[in-house]
Amino acid sequence: MASNEFEADVVVIGGGGAGLSAASEAARLGRSVILLEKNPKLGGSTAWAIGSVTAINTPHQLRAGIKDSPDEHFEDLEKLAGALAFRDNLVLRRILVEHTTEMFEWLLSIGVVFMGPMLQPPHRYPRMHNVVPNSSSFPYHLGRHCRRLGVDLCLAVTAKELIVKRGRVTGVIASTASGEERRYLARRAVVLASGDFSGGRELKARYASGLAAGVDAVNATNTGDGHRMALGLGASVINGDLLSGPDIRFVPPERSSLVQRLPPIWAVGQAVRLAVDYLPAAILRPFLMSFVTTALGPEPSLYKEGAILVNAKGERFADELGNPEDELVSQPEGIGYIVLDGEIARRFAAWPYFISTAPSIAYAYLPDYKRNRRDIYHEAGSVELLARRLGMSPETLSRTVRGTAAPETGRRGLIGPNFVALGPIKSYVTVAEGGLKVSEHLEVLGPGDTPIPGLFAGGATGQGGLLLYGHGHHLAWAFVSGRLAGRNAALNLARA
Ligand SMILES: Cc1cc2nc3c(=O)[nH]c(=O)nc-3n(C[C@H](O)[C@H](O)[C@H](O)COP(=O)(O)OP(=O)(O)OC[C@H]3O[C@@H](n4cnc5c(N)ncnc54)[C@H](O)[C@@H]3O)c2cc1C
Repeated sequence: MASNEFEADVVVIGGGGAGLSAASEAARLGRSVILLEKNPKLGGSTAWAIGSVTAINTPHQLRAGIKDSPDEHFEDLEKLAGALAFRDNLVLRRILVEHTTEMFEWLLSIGVVFMGPMLQPPHRYPRMHNVVPNSSSFPYHLGRHCRRLGVDLCLAVTAKELIVKRGRVTGVIASTASGEERRYLARRAVVLASGDFSGGRELKARYASGLAAGVDAVNATNTGDGHRMALGLGASVINGDLLSGPDIRFVPPERSSLVQRLPPIWAVGQAVRLAVDYLPAAILRPFLMSFVTTALGPEPSLYKEGAILVNAKGERFADELGNPEDELVSQPEGIGYIVLDGEIARRFAAWPYFISTAPSIAYAYLPDYKRNRRDIYHEAGSVELLARRLGMSPETLSRTVRGTAAPETGRRGLIGPNFVALGPIKSYVTVAEGGLKVSEHLEVLGPGDTPIPGLFAGGATGQGGLLLYGHGHHLAWAFVSGRLAGRNAALNLARA
């Protein structure tokens, strides 16, 4: 074998939730496994996630006296899909609801800690569990589990192309950070678990829209590489037009928050979980706030109460109650600021006027932003001073603010002297729902809907038209489908 050639029973592309689940499952079945991750660390969108996992009949549900069932979960997913329900993949939905219990118990068994369950209507029972202390818990525990099982985790190695011999996928051509080309040969199968295409301009343009193509992704490195490689072999993408976003979010802070810095080890997870269960809300609140003000975007209720949106020049550019997220994309540098006056600021200091929320868990008000996000919170005693703080022309911002009154619509406009601005804000695509068409065994389907021999997909790459609306279903699918894809790849006898 050449020095740039490596061989294993199963080669997994992607080190997020699905890829790590696939790799560990194949290794548990005694297969040799190589996992390629293009970034220098594991995690993908799985590590960016808020961390909610929806699952039924978990120890948490049982402790709360809840008796749930896959059938009821199946029906509630239909309600969550609403008018789009007719586009759902019912075979994959059934697979998801039948496997959340064992998936969740498996995550607990390798050290992941959750709090919950929380109620998220229209779910009829509380089913949402949240990982603690944070989502880096997933790559931490799954990565450790993989290493213990002997998986060869190759970081900063990007899969470029599938190797196909006589119609069968037999490996992957990849490149290292230094540009060295490597060939990873798979004796049994390759699993595509390279996430979604939220950061992939070409695929967004092809399946969603030209507008979406120009919008940044929260996870810019998920460029749909697995989709592209499989499309080259005649696979197809389902529900490629469905995106979560563009949505307006605050730009992330340069330094990670207190919660993000907590080590994701089991003991810390348990401590946080006990704190959530037993500590008075007042003590817990600052802890939750560092998360809610970092990971979540502003509520539209701000605009209903009179706040305005301006671009980096201080000009208003959109009807705030229309689709400002679309118009923000074409503003200078793609950034904007939310401007409110002293009166609106006072209102957004208490219930029911919150700036952002993790529903049913925590609500962040303006003072929480002042405390936790000094980088995006700006206040001043005059509009001119505020403009200078934001690097805008004082004349332009004063003109904009003066022009906000619209007596004919009842809009009173912003009134000084005190003003607050929140930003920069940007439009982001969070998730692209389009996944490769797969069989119930997670085989990637090619021309004529026949499985492409030697090729499996899981997670976002293998989403196959499944609708995952509501909180916590994407991660649940990543772990469930990843494990199944890994298992089926390991048992793929055709080449054994
Ligand atoms: C901000 C945010 C919050 C979210 N919150 C939640 C939540 O709370 N609950 C929920 O259910 N869902 C949530 N989601 C969605 C969820 O995180 C994803 O759907 C899920 O993590 C997908 O898992 P995955 O393993 O398929 O992909 P990922 O976790 O993205 O993993 C894919 C991996 O493949 C790697 N990769 C890509 N291309 C290549 C290549 N060519 N070669 C090698 N490696 C490659 C990527 O770098 C990445 O590490 C959230 C998403 C975002 C962005």
